[in-house]
Amino acid sequence: MLLKGATLVRIDPPALERADLRVAGDTIVGRGPRLRPRAGEAVVDVKGRLILPGLVCAHTHGYSALSRGMPAPPASPRSFADMLARVWWTLDQALDEETVYCSALVAAVEAVRAGTTTLIDHHSSPNAIPGSLDIVREALGAVGVRGVLCYEVTDRGGARRRDAGLAENDRFLSATRSDPQMRGLVGAHASFTLGDSSLAALGDLVRYHGAGIHMHVAEATDDVRRTERAHGCGILDRLDRHGLLNERAVLVHGVHLSDADLARARGASAWLVHNPRSNMNNAVGRARIERFGARAALGADGWPADMLAELRFAHFRAREHLGPRRPFPATSLLEGGQRLASALFGMPFGTLEPGSAADLIVADYVSPTPVTAGNLAAHLVAGLQPAMFRRVMAAGRWVCLDGVPANVNVEAVYERASRLAASLWRRMRG
Ligand SMILES: [Zn+2]
Repeated sequence: MLLKGATLVRIDPPALERADLRVAGDTIVGRGPRLRPRAGEAVVDVKGRLILPGLVCAHTHGYSALSRGMPAPPASPRSFADMLARVWWTLDQALDEETVYCSALVAAVEAVRAGTTTLIDHHSSPNAIPGSLDIVREALGAVGVRGVLCYEVTDRGGARRRDAGLAENDRFLSATRSDPQMRGLVGAHASFTLGDSSLAALGDLVRYHGAGIHMHVAEATDDVRRTERAHGCGILDRLDRHGLLNERAVLVHGVHLSDADLARARGASAWLVHNPRSNMNNAVGRARIERFGARAALGADGWPADMLAELRFAHFRAREHLGPRRPFPATSLLEGGQRLASALFGMPFGTLEPGSAADLIVADYVSPTPVTAGNLAAHLVAGLQPAMFRRVMAAGRWVCLDGVPANVNVEAVYERASRLAASLWRRMRG
């Protein structure tokens, strides 16, 4: 396929170039001015449009997609841990296989509509664990989005469920070793819900598969205090002791990591994922993203995977705290997601260069002011909107055409989701 006449965008370091793109299979195979169509090649006229790399959501929970508008718990949560118990652990325990599938389908539909072509998902369904990652994989595959999946291992449901979670990660990592659109990580909830024997088992999985841990870290003070009280050390100490702190680790939130711990995470080349909408909604505090270093990315943490919305929250929140004299380039977090996807899939993302992933957005962006490499960040924060995304491609296949998901009937998906959400909420109350 030949995409002709667009301006190609690199997010960071920012670059713009008018060039044609050739795609074959799931890869970009050609780039240059005035590429000539080959016999039998489909040619798509994208003149005047911007082509951006497909966006990466570095942490989310597709299982919570049917939570929108659900009734509040009977009593208001008193703390972050209390909110987990009253809201999110009530929700995930009410999930069955059908709601797992439908939730993942809705999460994927909302992702591709927002130009997000890779979802790094953290799944939990304690009453439907075995095979649950295959169900999520099937849903993401139906929409066409890439996935990096894991099952959230925790001690909160007892040893049997913990072991089922470990087995699900193990099985999925083996099954997706050579899948071009799917990868696995080793999922773990958080330090305060994991005992030492569970962390040791997670460490065994990480070593056996050469995979990274995907885990919430210091999201709220509960995690830090309970870890110190129960284990007499910090969260990163515990991860390090069990061989979980390495360059493949995806550490989520880091709101309450100390300066020393942030330096330690950077030193280990672990990935840190910032989720500003979630942090604000849960009132857990502000992550000091200015100390996250180069291996930092953006996640939606269960909110729709609209990474431009997440970018705005990251930008404004950093701006409010750091002030105009210490500007934080929030778009570097979008680029961080591209580098994380590159590491996970073993091919370049985000460059739109030959040999890189054919994951891209064709945007109908007409700006009232000039768009240059020098001011691209301002256009990403203040101008571009998912409503301008005319086409979206993931792994060389169109997943949105004319702004509409191309591979599923959205009306039918939402009708089913709405029906399932009503019974899910009834089960939660029960
Ligand atoms: Zn999360």
